[in-house]
Amino acid sequence: MSDISKIDWHQSALDLKIKSKAFIGGQFTDSVSGQTFTSISPIDGRTLAEVAACDVEDVNIAVKSARKAFKSGDWSNRTPVERKAILQNFAQIIRNNRNELALLETLDMGKPIANSTSIDVNATANCFDWYAESIDKIYGEIAPTANNYLALVTREPLGVVAAVVPWNFPMLMAAWKLAPALAAGNSIILKPAEQSSLTALKLAELAVEAGIPQGVFNVVTGYGPEVGRALGMHMDIDGLFFTGSTQVGKYFMEYAAKSNLKTIGLELGGKSPFLLLESYKDTKRAATTVANSIFFNQGEMCTAPSRLIVERSVHEEAVETIVNIAKSLIPNNPLNAQTKMGAMVDVAHTERVMNFVNIAEKDGADVVIGGKQTRIKSGGCYIEPTVFDNVKNNMRVAQDEIFGPMLSIIPVDSVDEAIQVANDSPYGLASSVWTNDLNTAHTVSRKIHAGIVYVNCYDVDDMTTPFGGVKQSGIGRDKSLHALDKFTEIKSTWISLDI
Ligand code: NAP
Ligand code: MG
Repeated sequence: MSDISKIDWHQSALDLKIKSKAFIGGQFTDSVSGQTFTSISPIDGRTLAEVAACDVEDVNIAVKSARKAFKSGDWSNRTPVERKAILQNFAQIIRNNRNELALLETLDMGKPIANSTSIDVNATANCFDWYAESIDKIYGEIAPTANNYLALVTREPLGVVAAVVPWNFPMLMAAWKLAPALAAGNSIILKPAEQSSLTALKLAELAVEAGIPQGVFNVVTGYGPEVGRALGMHMDIDGLFFTGSTQVGKYFMEYAAKSNLKTIGLELGGKSPFLLLESYKDTKRAATTVANSIFFNQGEMCTAPSRLIVERSVHEEAVETIVNIAKSLIPNNPLNAQTKMGAMVDVAHTERVMNFVNIAEKDGADVVIGGKQTRIKSGGCYIEPTVFDNVKNNMRVAQDEIFGPMLSIIPVDSVDEAIQVANDSPYGLASSVWTNDLNTAHTVSRKIHAGIVYVNCYDVDDMTTPFGGVKQSGIGRDKSLHALDKFTEIKSTWISLDI
């Protein structure tokens, strides 16, 4: 990998040729209406592109194209080994295009270029590799029926599926759906968030270059209530896989109920608790982890540990450590290779996040650091790392998903109280407990109602383990072999042996 600090990313941004039409049937295409919307960079407010604003008509064309590709068998009927080779090729092509993909991601949604080049591009390529590798190792079953029958249990692709994804990890959240869906033989229509369409379009172009047949991977850009809804309501889409807010996730359940009962998978919001207990020997280490995790990606993380639930005896040391880290993290232009904290995704989200400072103060929390917008003259969207202390769990900053660089600290008097507070949330995505007591580690992990528990660590990333939440954090899991379940249907075939 080239040394990213040697690249002049500001110049590269100026030289970049951005593709911004929809991608249907293997071609870039204008929306039927000819409408576009403006993609604005949160780095400095510059206009990046006019992106095709698709609507129901474009979705109908994309579904027809995806269905035709599926029926042709060009992809769906290839042998698993053939699909594997093409997807591995795709992964390599993604790596070969690292700089362009990373630059598009950073320009579009504001994350540091150091992160998009390393984390986002690598994780996306690895995801395709992982599902490519898996797909020729999955066997069907023979059921233990009576001897005069042979019952086969096989997996088939769903058919035409859609993925609707958010803007915080635009490529990676798409890859978590695309890779297992494509590996299993489906055709797919991807709708990126309107704030971050550009890498999705580039990925679709690269997919054709990798050998994925035209029409198998389509991208329909546009607004959620139009394109997202049209996908959700479509009668000829077999599955819809969504990552985003809980509110919009609920709409997709409704769309499915009102249309064809398509399979729905939901990866939704979180308000993840981080339990720092006095039985953990190194308060500083735990506090450093919580700070680095909540401020990572400008706090725009579904798994962000946004509630630090801390035993009172270690509260003061934890706050001091976190405040020192917050002071050292100064948001800056994400095109500078040294920047650790970049821009928030857009103006509307920045305003929404900033409003939580007023809410925190009104509810009686202490704003111990941050709470202000910064770099305003840049024309971009930047928020200081912010810490609210002495928060009560019924305050809005402890209940609502802020999705910004804001940590709520909730002191508690016992482990039992910590568990009770952790579970008092509509969400159940990630969680974390810090203790050196083996018994406490196991018992607390069991009692926390969440899809993921990290013990003495946070945000460990690996394709091998399922990712997703309980309660209003979603339905189903991304990553791991379990994710393949939702992109396939199980068929039971009974064969009579009484000839
Ligand atoms: P969002 O507002 O729910 O949007 C997600 C997607 O849904 C976008 O493509 C959006 O389109 C579309 N959409 C919006 N309204 C719609 C409607 N009425 N009908 C159909 N589609 C609609 O979420 P976001 O603000 O982009 O992302 C932040 C959220 O994602 C947070 O809640 C975060 O926790 C969650 N998230 C969860 C995970 C996970 O794995 N659990 C991972 C990352 C993020 P537009 O382009 O028009 O907005
Ligand atoms: Mg943008």
